[in-house]
Amino acid sequence: SAAATPRRPSPAAAAGPSPRDTRWGDTSSYGAKKKNRVFCQLPNGDWALCTVITTSGDESVLKVPEGKVLRLKTESLQPANPEILDGVDDLMQLSYLSEPSVLYNLQYRYSQDMIYTKAGPVLVAVNPFKKVALYGNEYIKAYRNKTMDSPHVYAIADSALREMKSDEVNQSIIISGESGAGKTETAKIAMQYLASLGGGSGIEYEILQTNPILEAFGNAKTLRNDNSSRFGKLIEIHFSTTGRICGAMIQTFLLEKSRVVQCAVGERSYHIFYQLCAGAPTTLREKLNLKKVDEYKYLKQSCCYSIAGVDDAEMFRAVTEAMNIVHISKEDQDNVFAMVSAVLWLGDVSFTIIDNENHVEITVEEAAETVSRLLGCSIEDLNLVLSKRHMKVNNENIVQKLTLTQATDTRDALAKALYASLFEWLVEQINKSLSVGKRRTGRSISILDIYGFESFDKNSFEQFCINYANERLQQHFNRHLFKLEQEEYVEDGIDWAKVEFEDNQDCLNLFEKVWACTFSSLLSSSRNHKYKPLGLLSLLDEESTFPNATDLTFANKLKQHLDTNSCFRGERGKAFTVRHYAGEVAYDTSGFLEKNRDLLHMDSIQFLAKCKLSIPQTFASKMLAQSDNLESIPYRPSVADSQKLSVAMKFKGQLFQLMQRLESTTPHFIRCIKPNNLQLPAIYGQELVLQQLKCCGVLEVVRISRSGYPTRMTHQKFARRYGFLLLEDVASQDPLSVSVAILHQFNILPEMYQVGYTKLFFRTGQVWQP
Ligand code: ATP
Ligand code: MG
Repeated sequence: SAAATPRRPSPAAAAGPSPRDTRWGDTSSYGAKKKNRVFCQLPNGDWALCTVITTSGDESVLKVPEGKVLRLKTESLQPANPEILDGVDDLMQLSYLSEPSVLYNLQYRYSQDMIYTKAGPVLVAVNPFKKVALYGNEYIKAYRNKTMDSPHVYAIADSALREMKSDEVNQSIIISGESGAGKTETAKIAMQYLASLGGGSGIEYEILQTNPILEAFGNAKTLRNDNSSRFGKLIEIHFSTTGRICGAMIQTFLLEKSRVVQCAVGERSYHIFYQLCAGAPTTLREKLNLKKVDEYKYLKQSCCYSIAGVDDAEMFRAVTEAMNIVHISKEDQDNVFAMVSAVLWLGDVSFTIIDNENHVEITVEEAAETVSRLLGCSIEDLNLVLSKRHMKVNNENIVQKLTLTQATDTRDALAKALYASLFEWLVEQINKSLSVGKRRTGRSISILDIYGFESFDKNSFEQFCINYANERLQQHFNRHLFKLEQEEYVEDGIDWAKVEFEDNQDCLNLFEKVWACTFSSLLSSSRNHKYKPLGLLSLLDEESTFPNATDLTFANKLKQHLDTNSCFRGERGKAFTVRHYAGEVAYDTSGFLEKNRDLLHMDSIQFLAKCKLSIPQTFASKMLAQSDNLESIPYRPSVADSQKLSVAMKFKGQLFQLMQRLESTTPHFIRCIKPNNLQLPAIYGQELVLQQLKCCGVLEVVRISRSGYPTRMTHQKFARRYGFLLLEDVASQDPLSVSVAILHQFNILPEMYQVGYTKLFFRTGQVWQP
């Protein structure tokens, strides 16, 4: 079916610098070249496209866009691409790959609602912050029939689908970007395409309906994004042999539990709290004793109750409808909402001080009564779990009375655990409903929507974990796009000037290195000192097991062990800095140990196990069943075995499992870009965009891809596919000779391909691939 297609390089490709030139286009400044289209940097730092009027001495007089005239040093100017290249849909086609020309090209397209652009093998998506007419059935049809080929999420989903079928390899679509850049929307757009093409069984509709549920329980308004995902998500969509969707599996990562009890001014807690309060019908409202959102302590602290343009009541109906569709029974839904209400009311449970040592009891009033009724426990049990703690000291069981602070912390920990168990339960139910079961064929497309790199004024344990995950993902990206690519050239013996790329292995080592053996410790006889934990994660874990450790001792420990590491810098007090691939981040260790331990006391687990409400009851019983040997845990006398693993270690385990899964797939990368911090359309901040392009390696990937040979085919395949075009009869010849004959007959320029030991390598645009 393959038509003859070795074709001449497109004018755009021909206009580029010599293909062998692996340097940046931008290293050559405008200089004395006689071109009058240039970029100049305006006083505000932005680059503007302008025309040179005259050049005299080392200065040039320029006309800038608004008609103004500027006089600038000629050497500060950057050459611009010819007009014919304005808005090309692949950055690889740009002659000059300078930062201003990449920024200009994306902006040019963005201003015309062309939010998608290819950067070689990567799709760049610039968030429009408005409805753009690029989606829906007409577009889906056009991409399926290939009548449309401009860059699009649909095109990515389409190639994933095609490659899954033709290569019989699982695929993944890896979406990254900052908060608010559009990852979740992009993931949904990809899901829509897959559902539409692989639909038929009805299960695709169920899969789409998991989005409103998970967003209600796992998304919240933050200062950066009105609908910010506070968890990472991988959805694996399974296909039958006939190409129909036959099920799906969702895995979530690291839900931000703390938001339930604590949230910054101007942000909100999870959507579901507001949706339930606004949308519950009267009977449910009475049953759950719901108040208005501004009457709950947990919700009141951030002084933010609504989101512009969002009707929480309406959303509540959408969520319950979605729950019906994924087969969550009415009874289970009632339990879910009872838990949501119980969490809110728990925040209102207050304490009465009973002695002069600040010991407390709960105040028996509406809040405590409602919580005990909703969870199905007695007021006495609730009081006991919130005001006393069983401890084992010197092998003796004692009961300790809690102070106000301890009691409040216990209450909040209970609220977080309730909510986290609810979220876990929901994911489990969804997975049961979408279960692939026996229909499994093993072919799947996974979509990963995971928080991007974060760097704020104050960075805590959450950013630490998130940025660690991003280092892992970045390495995966690097491996695939750069390393594997270059290794393949070398293995096939082709002439290839190695392109250096930022390798982040050092930073990963900083996080992950465990129990490295030191020479001096080998000589020492003490077994205990044989190995030293040397990575951030293992040092954190070690410190978390010491009862007297504090955030300060942890910070000091890091400085002591890591100060020679080039990716680490100890700061004053409790702070340290990590040099990430995307930039330096200063972390404040306050709360690190506590958040890493994330302990739910045995008393609380036993309390939940006694509750009549089924979701927390099952959750707690499971935890108890897993912990048969409680005494053996050093320094953690009253926790369950399942908590032996710290948060960071659990996360690392999940991450490794994720990477392993991704390694066996063909990846497709989408990089989402946020053009402004205001969540508004038509504003394109160059500085902001540039920083994101750098962070996710887009510029680097274009440079490498353009200087490489992205299309490759074995001699056999090429000869089989195009041999019939040969004018001479070469049927008897070997594939290599046939291939070379084809290349000669079609006058393919020698710099456009290379002949390897087993494969032919082509530059972009040389061979049409079906
Ligand atoms: P977070 O990391 O905080 O979860 P995110 O990258 O998932 O952020 P999204 O929630 O997907 O960001 O996008 C933020 C907002 O941007 C959306 O609520 C929507 O208003 C807008 N948006 C994103 N992509 C598109 C699109 N393709 N078309 C229209 N609007 C979009
Ligand atoms: Mg999101």
